[in-house]
Amino acid sequence: MDFVTVCGLEVHTELATKTKIFCNCSTEFGGEPNTHVCEICSGMPGTLPVVNKRVVEFAVRTGLALNCEITRYNKFDRKNYFYPDLPKAYQISQLYLPICRNGWVEINDSINGGKKKVRIHEIHMEEDAGKLVHDEWTDSTLVNYNRCGVPLLEIVSEPDIASADEAVEYVEKLRAILQFCGVSDCKMQEGSLRADVNVSVMPKGSTEYGTRTEMKNINSFRAIHNAVEAEAQRQIELIEDGEKVVQQTRRWDDGKGTSYAMRSKEDAQDYKYFPEPDLPPIQLSDEYIQEIKDNLPELPEEKKARYVGEYGLTDYDAKILCSDKAFANLFDTTVQITNSPKDSAHWIMGDLMKLLNDTQTLPENMCFRQESLGEIINLVAGNKISRDTAKKVLTAVFNDDVIPADYVKANNMEMVSDTGAIKAIVEDVVAANPKAVEEYRDGKEKSFNFLTGQCMRALKGKAPASEVTKLLKEIIG
Ligand code: ADP
Ligand code: MG
Ligand code: ZN
Repeated sequence: MDFVTVCGLEVHTELATKTKIFCNCSTEFGGEPNTHVCEICSGMPGTLPVVNKRVVEFAVRTGLALNCEITRYNKFDRKNYFYPDLPKAYQISQLYLPICRNGWVEINDSINGGKKKVRIHEIHMEEDAGKLVHDEWTDSTLVNYNRCGVPLLEIVSEPDIASADEAVEYVEKLRAILQFCGVSDCKMQEGSLRADVNVSVMPKGSTEYGTRTEMKNINSFRAIHNAVEAEAQRQIELIEDGEKVVQQTRRWDDGKGTSYAMRSKEDAQDYKYFPEPDLPPIQLSDEYIQEIKDNLPELPEEKKARYVGEYGLTDYDAKILCSDKAFANLFDTTVQITNSPKDSAHWIMGDLMKLLNDTQTLPENMCFRQESLGEIINLVAGNKISRDTAKKVLTAVFNDDVIPADYVKANNMEMVSDTGAIKAIVEDVVAANPKAVEEYRDGKEKSFNFLTGQCMRALKGKAPASEVTKLLKEIIG
């Protein structure tokens, strides 16, 4: 029997606000354990939460960017559970009236070709929990409350995803939109974007979904891909062996490539949700929502269309440049400085990507002055440095954030622009290679290339090749 995969994702993203959702503590990643905490986020009795306005604004912005309806009257609910990393023993979240509903993201249809929409059921605001750290030395578990109360958006998709590739593309699209909106840095390795992956399978042609399992907190594209594929396969094998899929929460171990049963899946009723009594409902006016809509930044799809339409980039280049805010920002800055979209794209797609790849650096961790790349390109265009030299300068910029013009000067890398000086070197080369000169005069074109090469080497690549060939022709032919 043929089976199809059904997958729905619950994506959690940490918002890039300065302070937490219900108190003034810093949201900064890291820091000494338990230093970003106060009475409110450590759950002391008698304290009262106050909603961070920025969180509401970011949620609305995200909802609008994801084609959602905004819930004018929304409110918080209390989700009760005991976890050592959540000292209050409940999480303030939204269940009954989430702030955004009914959105969608467009992706490629991996089964039928063309495009398809993955519907978004809802987006709700909630607080993050702290972190448990297991200490091998003392065989004890420590708790760090710094992350308690960091604002989260949970973006819940409908089960519209039909393959591992679609799951990855959906999260890639979401990530880019969240980044471009400026609501989250989406650093997956720091956990600021993580996905709960729900998977079921059903016989091809069936209209009734199979029983699903959920794998929590997966935080890399590769792991999402592997988890969907392996879990669908596990379920198919169970069914083919005449067994049943049990609805449960599983832990995905990406190193081992398998998942383990953690607990039977809990339902909303297990959490004894009730309206949060410490927070008043939120009432949003049409003007408030309109203002956020009017100020939405350029989103990945619009940017991509502009790069193709206005700048004449290929679809492929535009897609890559719009896949990460770090690329798009660098490209925009570089185009401003060089006035050449083609050159700017060429350098980013070529030499810069190679540097990132060779050093295993994520685009978000590039930490050089944004203007430097454009300045290097201009130095080449103005015949101040050769293309080979430019590559060296880019490497120095990438590794040490040097200033291109200063670096070129300090290392004596400028092109020799004085025709007299170039001519003297070309004459030396001609004098030192009489045989090649003779062969050229006998019609052997290769010898001319050889001589050009010798000149460029003597000039250490610091003269324009066109100038060198011109002088060489004058002298020998
Ligand atoms: P719960 O209320 O138990 O959390 P939801 O209906 O909210 O369940 O769904 C949670 C996530 O699971 C959603 O992202 C949804 O798309 C996904 N999902 C629901 N049913 C299935 C299914 N049969 N197969 C795969 N994913 C599913
Ligand atoms: Mg759920
Ligand atoms: Zn606090």
